[in-house]
Amino acid sequence: EAKKAGRGELLIFNDAMTAVAKDGLVIDGALRGAIAANEFYLVYQAITNANTGKMTKVEALLRWNSSLLGPVPPDRFIPVAEDSGMIIELGTWVLEEACRQMGSWKQSALREVTISINVSAWQLADPQFVTLVSQALMRNGLSPHQLELELTERVLIEDAANVQAVLAQLRALGVSVSLDDFGTGYSSLSYLTQFHLNTLKIDRAFVMDIEHSERSNSLVHAIIAMGHSLGLQLVAEGVETAGQAEILEKMGCHYLQGYHISRPVPPDELLRFAGNRVSAAPQPYSNFAI
Ligand code: C2E
Ligand code: MG
Ligand code: MG
Ligand code: MG
Repeated sequence: EAKKAGRGELLIFNDAMTAVAKDGLVIDGALRGAIAANEFYLVYQAITNANTGKMTKVEALLRWNSSLLGPVPPDRFIPVAEDSGMIIELGTWVLEEACRQMGSWKQSALREVTISINVSAWQLADPQFVTLVSQALMRNGLSPHQLELELTERVLIEDAANVQAVLAQLRALGVSVSLDDFGTGYSSLSYLTQFHLNTLKIDRAFVMDIEHSERSNSLVHAIIAMGHSLGLQLVAEGVETAGQAEILEKMGCHYLQGYHISRPVPPDELLRFAGNRVSAAPQPYSNFAI
């Protein structure tokens, strides 16, 4: 009993210490200068065509190795960067770095993939945003069709009129827009027709239980059917098992993303992964771990 309680206390204490050490203010302080100090980098996660197993897109995910705090996950520092407004500078860095990386893949097995980057509400509200996007594409000799922007439902509800205008401009430019974490937000279904969206990414929370929960299974089925009827592409996030992949493919989900296909990896590993897949036998879901 006592031992158990003691361990519990220790755990709580450790959690509290972590919370203090990496608490908003500390993170905020450490974020300043982190771009200049080269503490950020991108990792890339494959997104495959559910039918063919071919890697058609990659999602760029931001990583921060802070000299003060060590590795800090994006779920911790993105909200802080959003609060301080630093997300504009950070998001611009991500855009530029992802486009630079894409540009360097021109002669490689990755030349035909589309790159997807996460964009926060603040960036979309920045009057410079569309210009920044088109400049990053031009500077790196990319076609707008090679870029996709991932937004969350939150973005759509915050300043709907402006967002609608910005999405129309992006669409005119030829850049695709996907709705990330679909099903977890607060937007109404009418947003799906109101905004210019190309893709819905079904949140991992629903995909996770698809094999064992009738409810999740029906929900994902309904989302896919709705996506089809609205002419949207569907990506399932967080696909971790062969069983999930098979069910999703049968349901008509177009793309799969998750640890079952690949973890997010550095560029050189992604290149190796792409090379392997090009020459791979029909087996589409070969596992790939880091
Ligand atoms: P997200 O955009 O929904 O990205 C997917 C997250 O799920 C990533 O976490 C990825 O590593 C993780 N994931 C992928 N497959 C699986 C799986 O099979 N199982 C599990 N358990 N997880 C999986 P990550 O990299 O920690 O990023 C978390 C969130 O941080 C992202 O969620 C996104 O909202 C945000 N984020 C990441 N990079 C950026 C960025 O450059 N800009 C902005 N604004 N947000 C970013
Ligand atoms: Mg995303
Ligand atoms: Mg997501
Ligand atoms: Mg997420």
